[in-house]
Amino acid sequence: MSRIAEILLPLPVPEAFDYAEPEGMDLSPGALVSVPLGSRTLTGVVAALRDGQGGNRPLKPVLERLTGLALPPTTLAFVLWAARYSVDVPGAALSIALRGARAPRPRQERRLQASGAVPARTTPARSRVLAAAQEPISGPDLAIAAQVSAGVIKGLVDDGALNVILIDPDPGFGVPDLALTGAQLNPSQAASAKVLTGLVQTGGFSAVLLDGVTGSGKTEVYLEAAAATLAQDPTAQVLVLLPEIALTQAVLARFEQRFGARPGEWHSAIALPRRRQLWEAVADGSCRIVVGARSALFLPFTNLKLIIVDEEHDGSYKQEEGFIYQARDLAVVRAKLENALVVLASATPSMETLWNAESGRYRWLKLSARHGAAVLPDIDLIDLRSTALEAGRWLSLPLVQAMAETYGRGEQSLLFLNRRGYAPLVLCKACGERMTAPDTESWLVEHRYTGRLICHLTGFSMPKPKTCPHCGASDSLVSIGPGVERVEEEVKERFPEARVEVFSSDTVHSAEAARELVARMTAGEIDILVATQAAAKGHNFPNLTLVGVVDADLGLRGGDLRAAERTFQLLVQASGRAGRHERAGRALLQTYLPEHEVMQALKAQDRDGFMAAEMAERELAKLPPFGRLAAVIASGPDIPALDAYVQALAAAVPNAEGVEVFGPADAPQALVRGRRRKRFLVRADRSVDLQGFLSAWRARAKVPNSVRVVFDVDPYSFL
Ligand SMILES: [Zn+2]
Repeated sequence: MSRIAEILLPLPVPEAFDYAEPEGMDLSPGALVSVPLGSRTLTGVVAALRDGQGGNRPLKPVLERLTGLALPPTTLAFVLWAARYSVDVPGAALSIALRGARAPRPRQERRLQASGAVPARTTPARSRVLAAAQEPISGPDLAIAAQVSAGVIKGLVDDGALNVILIDPDPGFGVPDLALTGAQLNPSQAASAKVLTGLVQTGGFSAVLLDGVTGSGKTEVYLEAAAATLAQDPTAQVLVLLPEIALTQAVLARFEQRFGARPGEWHSAIALPRRRQLWEAVADGSCRIVVGARSALFLPFTNLKLIIVDEEHDGSYKQEEGFIYQARDLAVVRAKLENALVVLASATPSMETLWNAESGRYRWLKLSARHGAAVLPDIDLIDLRSTALEAGRWLSLPLVQAMAETYGRGEQSLLFLNRRGYAPLVLCKACGERMTAPDTESWLVEHRYTGRLICHLTGFSMPKPKTCPHCGASDSLVSIGPGVERVEEEVKERFPEARVEVFSSDTVHSAEAARELVARMTAGEIDILVATQAAAKGHNFPNLTLVGVVDADLGLRGGDLRAAERTFQLLVQASGRAGRHERAGRALLQTYLPEHEVMQALKAQDRDGFMAAEMAERELAKLPPFGRLAAVIASGPDIPALDAYVQALAAAVPNAEGVEVFGPADAPQALVRGRRRKRFLVRADRSVDLQGFLSAWRARAKVPNSVRVVFDVDPYSFL
């Protein structure tokens, strides 16, 4: 009797499709298959198999089982869990899990090796070639080694004296050497490493917060947990998640140093064939350590025993487009499904994680001392109300003086401003018009390097016009406020001799470029680095002793749930860049709000006090982690259709205890790419099944074709 295969496809459809299993194909859950859908052939995964006749549609046969490719049961379970949690269809999560499997296979490389057969004719050149080709070698390398032309080599191939071998290209990772030992740990590190090693040996699920100030040496501690995991079980695998591609090179290097081999690397900048190789190596267990961005969480690990989420507080773990998920939270879920240990590391843990640690759900390991001789930098506030900035300048005199002293001692400064480009706003001084994109209500940001005005929301860009598009006045457009490029301009005017660089996503386009800039800063080849948040994380610059925060208030404006928390975290990270080695460091924060609790807590270096105050406020308002939030964003170009839909949705809110629905209201970003946007905000008590509520609500209103609706559980962006 033939079976019905339920196939999940990476498509926005609510359920698996039924197909007939051909005789002898012998499918099992998790197997990757190709199936026909309409006129297309798609790659899908077997979710389940059942005996019987009649499926949910006329049955077509599965075309092919893709050999060597399968999702392990826990990976499949994780995909389904993530989809339900995000109130999305399984296909959206599945497409992330299959990204590597659907990537093109790498092209095989040609190697030559002496076959042992004696060539028809022997010459000195031919003998040199055969001597140099005892091991497989590429044609060009062989020509160089034997100092012969390509023709000589081709003749030997034709004679059968050289075999042509096709091999897979180097996958970029190696086998970890477990005989190597780690760095000398200080007592605080050693105590934490011992606890983690103990948890690895005990086995099973547990979650740990590894909490230590910047520079306390968290990486060395989790490296020991990784070593214990790999040693405990010869097939165990380790996953390290990082919030930024720019950080991966440094962490890869640490792992390579510790284990004598590079880990697998997974993020959007890795070429597709290389991702295919890694996907397969993770699935067959030959890759044992992966360092990657959030989507690495969806790789097909067969025996994942340790997950590390470094800089766990970082907002970049929240994926905001396509399939919406919070990788830190899903890492804990995956660890549970895998019966694994998960370590969340941070100097400034998120409110959610701290709450879990305080309530005993997570084990809490504190690293107190800064590693080696380094001490935390002094943090001082510069009150911009009493220390006014000169017109058109963004650096106050006390900051400039500190920079001059630092430069004079041959040490480095980092100026931090979380704003790309030259100026965040361009307006016409004749008519007051602000430059905006034609289809989006957001200011255009001036970029001087490219001479363009760019919308950071949509990527729209145009050359900076010579005359005002509104009133036609010429030379009337003025740049308002600073971005990193403008701060760089001021620094170069003030310090004409200094070597100044900008670190932002506009100047550093690739992981390689980031690695290069970080290496130059580390080597002392830059005196003053002007940087966005890309440089505020994780890097270790031995000669950096001064951090200046140009606009410490920036993150506090706009006021969303996490504004204060995020500002605090970012500024601690930024000021923590200073004085990580022998020299004492100093951080100066320019602010108009010196009394603000964030500024006071930073000055006093009182993280726990700040978090406790913030926690009390959240508890009072029953906001996360004391309650749960979800956002519903509907958008569309057709305003009547959009209004009708949001009204229908408002009328269809299910009755539920402990849930409040606010809205619909215009979103703060009310027009993006020609689409109007409306928002609802849902607040629920922790006891409520929020996903069940949202799914039921979603099903009650039919979405018009022109409207797109997104359910965002635990929103981070309130735009
Ligand atoms: Zn004008």
